[in-house]
Amino acid sequence: MARYTGADCRQCRREGEKLFLKGDRCYTDKCGMEKRPYPPGQAGKKRPRDSEYRVQLREKQKAKRIYGVLEKQFRTYYQIATRQPGITGENLLRLLESRLDNAVYRLGFAASRDEARQMVRHGHFTVDGHRVDIPSFRVRPGAVIAVGEKSKDMTAIKAALISSSKIEVPGWLEVDVEKLQGRVLSLPAREQIEAPIREQLIVELYSK
Ligand code: SF4
Repeated sequence: MARYTGADCRQCRREGEKLFLKGDRCYTDKCGMEKRPYPPGQAGKKRPRDSEYRVQLREKQKAKRIYGVLEKQFRTYYQIATRQPGITGENLLRLLESRLDNAVYRLGFAASRDEARQMVRHGHFTVDGHRVDIPSFRVRPGAVIAVGEKSKDMTAIKAALISSSKIEVPGWLEVDVEKLQGRVLSLPAREQIEAPIREQLIVELYSK
């Protein structure tokens, strides 16, 4: 399946809630959910039946959209989560949250996860001194994520840092804005993951 290339706001409208996919715009009245808070398409305003399966499916779709992960990769994360000790749903969220692109976004170096993914792909970040251009790279406690030397003057990073200064960096990360780097303090705990996902519904869906 190809990556979704349509309008981000359609994804929020499809899920019926703000997924914060577009950075600053999400906090303004230009937000698609503020202007048209109903599903896209001709049948948008008709409310579909909420079967148990549909609710579970929508929750999985929402998680995939928030983290920008495709079905195959998402299922792989789920399989890894089932093999880890602890609660499968929480393991799944922890795996998603520990992606390098997400960490870059949560450190405030990018305005959205999508932008973070692009920046990582273009090689603008290092992990422990080595350039890493794989958005799904899993960051571990103790890792230092830094803006690469040649990227320190990037306008997009500076702009993201200014707008994200209003947003709190989660407790599993710490950021040093002067040095343009961050450190992973621990694996993210469930309460530190803000994404509005009911992970148990995803586990129920995949357990069928
Ligand atoms: Fe979603 Fe952001 Fe678009 Fe609002 S502006 S609909 S939160 S992507």
